[in-house]
Amino acid sequence: MTRAAEIMSRAASLFPGGVNSPVRAFRGVGGEPIVIKSGKGARITDVNGREYIDFVMSWGALALGHAAPEVLDALGRVMQDGTTFGAPTELEVQLGELIRERMPHIEMMRFVSSGTEATMSAVRLARAATGRETILKFDGCYHGHADSFLVKAGSGVETLGLPDSPGVPASLAALTLTAPFNDLDQVRSLARSTPLAAMIVEPVVGNSGFIPPEPGFLEGLRTIADETGALLIFDEVMTGFRIAPGGARERFGVTADLTTLGKVVGGGLPVGVYGGRRDLMERIAPAGPVYQAGTLSGNPLAMAAGIATLTALTTDTHRAMDTAAARLVDGFRGSASRAGVPLTADHAGSMWGYFFTSGPVRNLDDARKSDVAFFKRFFHAALDRGLNLAPSAFEAGFVSSAHGSAEIGSALSIISESLEAASGKN
Ligand SMILES: *Cc1c(COP(=O)(O)O)cnc(C)c1O
Repeated sequence: MTRAAEIMSRAASLFPGGVNSPVRAFRGVGGEPIVIKSGKGARITDVNGREYIDFVMSWGALALGHAAPEVLDALGRVMQDGTTFGAPTELEVQLGELIRERMPHIEMMRFVSSGTEATMSAVRLARAATGRETILKFDGCYHGHADSFLVKAGSGVETLGLPDSPGVPASLAALTLTAPFNDLDQVRSLARSTPLAAMIVEPVVGNSGFIPPEPGFLEGLRTIADETGALLIFDEVMTGFRIAPGGARERFGVTADLTTLGKVVGGGLPVGVYGGRRDLMERIAPAGPVYQAGTLSGNPLAMAAGIATLTALTTDTHRAMDTAAARLVDGFRGSASRAGVPLTADHAGSMWGYFFTSGPVRNLDDARKSDVAFFKRFFHAALDRGLNLAPSAFEAGFVSSAHGSAEIGSALSIISESLEAASGKN
């Protein structure tokens, strides 16, 4: 028995499915997950001693790579002074200022400890501010696991809120309407017939694979929100500090009323943020009546990791990551075309993704047309050759500032070989 198999058999008796978050299990690809021992830069090493170039990057949380020296230094310094107080510190003010410099429309914010908490709290605030209960989300967008978000379309009945999970009250799920991404007509008709508290969207979808917005889509959401009195929430837990230094507002020129952040903003420690218009945020307790709290919110270690990360994410760093992702996607497309494999691949900044279909992929239904059986063979061929990709055909990938030209070059060779192997050509 390998060390990984031994650890996973102990994990299986402790944790449902052997994991502490479902995406970590290899249900989408078969086989057993690799068990990680360590990471450095763009690479990880598993407990069996194998090394991989990593494009999962803790699901996008790591913008500077694993064990980034800036982050380790900051953690080492800050932890000497205590790890949590449940009281104000200067660190949370510093991180808040760094966020607002890059995203000035986040006039005020609140730190929480996960993306799930951020989106859940933003919707509570939107409901309180509008006096409305119904929200609209998009098929295939993930906004954390709060009850209101575990809803997508029932088959053929795109607009009927049905719970995706047992345990979500049907009466609550009924308050969540859904529409296909990139479909403004559906949004318009839903928003006109039902008063919405908010429309929440991933400005670039990363949670049903990588799906960019079509030109005019986000602008259209803004217009519909303004016409109907709904608030627009950009869930930038994944896109924040990835698609542009200032996120969706900078990249697309569309400003949300409320924005949620997570992943990169915590530099690899648990942080979430929700924030936006001052008049809205002043409704949050204790400034206003909308209750939301957290024992470890603004945790000093998490703040220090976030400060170190945002400080290192200069315009040049963003440009380098964008270039690396562009080279990766171009090379992937070239190899697929040589191997005769249908592929749709793209990137926005340091976030990228691919589907084994000729496309175009505009929404979840299009994404479902991709060849999942081929993906599974490709995934395992790549993993065997030392490339760690997300174990699902419907996840985005991420480069970090540690993915230099050597790592991208090696990754492209592995991708090319793996496409051939998955096609049964060697
Ligand atoms: C990851 C993610 C979340 C949930 O964040 P957690 O920290 O896992 O709770 C919410 N929204 C989006 C867009 C995400 O990618």
